[in-house]
Amino acid sequence: MILFIHRKDLRTTDLPAFDAIRAAGSRSLHVLILEPFLLRKQRYLEHSGTNFLAHVSSLQQAYAFQGKQLHILYGEPDTIVRRLSEAYPVQELMIHADYTPYAIHRDQSLRNTSEELGIPLTLYHDSMLCDLDDFMEWSGRREPFKVFTPFYRRWRSYLTERFRPPYSSALADLETSALDERIAQDFMVPEEVKLQLDQPDLAGQKIDAGRSLEHFLNLNLQDYQISRDRYALESTSRISRHLNTGAISARTVYSRLTQEEGGFEEWLRQLAWRDFYLYQARMDADFFSYEKVYDLGRLGTKYFEAWSMARTGIPVIDAAMTQLNETGWMPNRLRMITAMFLTKNLGCPFIYGERYFRLKLSDYDNVLNRGGWLWSSSLGFDASPYFRIMNPVTQSQTHDPSGSYIRTWLPELADLPDKLIHLPRPDAIVHLKSSRALAIEIYKEILNSK
Ligand code: FAD
Repeated sequence: MILFIHRKDLRTTDLPAFDAIRAAGSRSLHVLILEPFLLRKQRYLEHSGTNFLAHVSSLQQAYAFQGKQLHILYGEPDTIVRRLSEAYPVQELMIHADYTPYAIHRDQSLRNTSEELGIPLTLYHDSMLCDLDDFMEWSGRREPFKVFTPFYRRWRSYLTERFRPPYSSALADLETSALDERIAQDFMVPEEVKLQLDQPDLAGQKIDAGRSLEHFLNLNLQDYQISRDRYALESTSRISRHLNTGAISARTVYSRLTQEEGGFEEWLRQLAWRDFYLYQARMDADFFSYEKVYDLGRLGTKYFEAWSMARTGIPVIDAAMTQLNETGWMPNRLRMITAMFLTKNLGCPFIYGERYFRLKLSDYDNVLNRGGWLWSSSLGFDASPYFRIMNPVTQSQTHDPSGSYIRTWLPELADLPDKLIHLPRPDAIVHLKSSRALAIEIYKEILNSK
């Protein structure tokens, strides 16, 4: 029997491991482990947690719908694998790889356990659109691409030449096994987490990643280039929460995209940013530790609370933070503006904002979130130059001239005329011009001290 553990691959089609299980021709036991560490501090009540659990629940329904079994267990992966291997003749353990420090540590420990038990562990790459190892070999580069545009050109040619289409095996092809009732009891999901699992609909919408994609391709793809930053229009795909939980694979998205007659280059470029950060996370040894490489201690945290509670007095910042706190969503441009405002104008280390987004974003992803925060704070590959600081007022005037986004999220300002709605309130916590000048000075010093 093969033991398969679902993680950031919450779907039933296009899974490399499913192909391998089918090829092995053996029965499989499918489990999803909710790890206490990842749900600590009531994470299951925050948008990032509820989104993940809603996808888990939807996956379990998809299994049941096809007459297959997925067992959701709560506990330490190591302990669970040991226990399962005592109860079942497990001949192989299969997992899709994950590259965050926590995941690498966890998988090393799983590898040690499986070696001890004499069970081979196979990790399959799944998250990137291009196969990184093959891409590196094909591109003939020894040094990583540190700038996005050359990376993008090679990545684009790679896809044209060597794109690996979605895997053909589906859940329907596999024979899944039942789980011993005692094991299910021993690793039972706590009641408070189960309550969230029992609410499979996220914000009243049934999770259907394929339908979200079709909706976007049919309605908004052609205008994407001009409308993507007009955030009040809500015209981007919102596919991120499905991509990051693996409810849809990047391969499936690309494969469907290329069936369009054209007009998809700009959107594809955004998907390339996703791969660029996933690439950087594996190629840049400092990716997960820039805060240690640079001494960010000199920046303060005085204003962090006002920022997170949407009380800065800068309308577009407060509107964006309100949307985030209430719904778990914030459009990309506003993520850049709020992140730069926190790290530059308010002089707060990026890790505070990163941690806050980690809880609040429903599409939270460890690598993409860190990538976005590094970019905004001028750290890492191809980051925003430290002297180019977005001004929240002019950004708001440019991308939402009538202020309709601010009016939606800050109803108390709804009656202000277009001309005034973007401007700092009299109680704004910071002066934009002088804080910008100070930030440039401090960042210059931090970045040059490396
Ligand atoms: P679309 O505009 O429809 O783009 C399609 C896909 O391309 C996205 O789903 C995403 O996978 C990818 N993409 C788009 N923009 C970017 C980008 N700037 N960087 C990397 N990939 C991109 N994205 C996350 O998925 N999870 C996060 O936790 C996250 N945190 C961020 C934090 C900050 C500070 C910043 C500046 C950006 C962050 N992003 C994150 C990137 C980006 O904001 C989101 O991917 C995007 O807003 C998702 O909306 P969408 O699916 O409608 O995107």
